[in-house]
Amino acid sequence: MFVKKCVFWIVFIASVIALCIICVKATEQQSYFPLLGKVIVVDPGHGGRDPGTIYGTIYEKDINLAIAKVLERILSEHGAIVYMVREDDSDLSSIYDAKKKRGDLYRRILFLEDEKKKTDLYLSIHINWYKNPSWSGAEVLYNEINPNNKILGELLMKHFKNDFNTKRSLKKTDLYLYKNTRKPGVLIECGFLSNPNERYLLRQTDYQEKLSKTITNAVVEYFQTISKEASG
Ligand SMILES: [Zn+2]
Repeated sequence: MFVKKCVFWIVFIASVIALCIICVKATEQQSYFPLLGKVIVVDPGHGGRDPGTIYGTIYEKDINLAIAKVLERILSEHGAIVYMVREDDSDLSSIYDAKKKRGDLYRRILFLEDEKKKTDLYLSIHINWYKNPSWSGAEVLYNEINPNNKILGELLMKHFKNDFNTKRSLKKTDLYLYKNTRKPGVLIECGFLSNPNERYLLRQTDYQEKLSKTITNAVVEYFQTISKEASG
């Protein structure tokens, strides 16, 4: 009887210890990979026949792609599954599209809405332009089609203000792509090509890295926020 009791307690204590180890490991994994299992689509704006905004030989489409690739890596390092709308200098229009720009945007919507990917959110990466060259700073635009868009936009602006001291603020957009995409996501204007300082910085890899880290931290906080809201 005594032996049986001993065996029971040994097995019981060993099970409790094993359970504790599993819990600690799971928590560790969550802090190392806070985006584990999240599906994020990164949409580098423009491409191919559409250069976006231009300054001399500097094209927005190229900077968008460069930032998007750094962002893809950093999101992946945080555990996310990342899909890129484009990986090179191409657009999504078809040779049969009468209106190429509309065809490109239409296929981007299909990519973002594709049910097979089970997309949790998308991030469109763009660069801004304004006639006054003193304007600078990152800003985020969202459409109200999905209530989570505003939550994501506010968090991104909060992180941009903390890390870059941007004076810009969250804006609404009615652009075709954003008002027709029901998945959560926003348009991020990473800075101004018309501003000499940002024109230089936006093409530097360390600055692209800093921008991508800020975006990733905001995305991590976004998922924490919406999971709290869902459980509370
Ligand atoms: Zn653009």
